[in-house]
Amino acid sequence: HDLDAFLAAINEKTKLIYIANPNNPTGNFLTEAEIDGFLAKVRSDIIVVLDEAYTEFTAADERVDSFTLLNKYPNLVVSRSLSKAYGLAGLRIGYAVSNPEIANLFNRVRQPFNVNSLALASAIAVMNDDAFVQKVAENNRQELKRYEAFCQQYGLEYIPSKGNFITIDFKQPAAPIYDALLREGVIVRPIAGYGMPNHLRISVGLPEENDRLFNALVKVLNLK
Ligand SMILES: *Cc1c(COP(=O)(O)O)cnc(C)c1O
Repeated sequence: HDLDAFLAAINEKTKLIYIANPNNPTGNFLTEAEIDGFLAKVRSDIIVVLDEAYTEFTAADERVDSFTLLNKYPNLVVSRSLSKAYGLAGLRIGYAVSNPEIANLFNRVRQPFNVNSLALASAIAVMNDDAFVQKVAENNRQELKRYEAFCQQYGLEYIPSKGNFITIDFKQPAAPIYDALLREGVIVRPIAGYGMPNHLRISVGLPEENDRLFNALVKVLNLK
């Protein structure tokens, strides 16, 4: 995110600014100083949403202390998801933290019964299971290193990621690579829709799943 460009684009019509951090589909990351410095320059009547769907994958000492920032910026909304590190994607549940005035507005516009009771019960269970989230984050940390080593070994350029995926720049149209991987039984994510036709975003899986991707990529790209 080019935060200076965001600031320059603000006009009298601006109502909401949305920042995903770490960002999807690139995995790059804004520091707390960058976010704080940005919020200090945004008019207080503009809502800023900080989408932290991937925050659990960022090292604890690097994470933005976004809940503390809420004390300084009443126009801030922090959103989190239980679809990623917590593994509840199919249950469609997450949460936002904001000041009461904004929470009150959410309550007025949200649909009644927008979250089902199984999702709520699951959310409570996983949010009390720190060991699980730590295990997931640790697997991700280790395996992301293997992705970086793999890319370095074969001279593939990648975007350093603080999420649970890595985005590789193949320097050639990625759609045929995507198709070939699919035929090897490996599904990755084309991101041409984001203006990145030469990149693929690859989710970090378990070690054996990542091995399968590495082998498929060596075969498909004829890497030596
Ligand atoms: C996955 C994701 C979300 C959360 O989606 P859910 O509806 O909770 O599954 C939000 N923002 C970003 C950037 C994401 O990647």
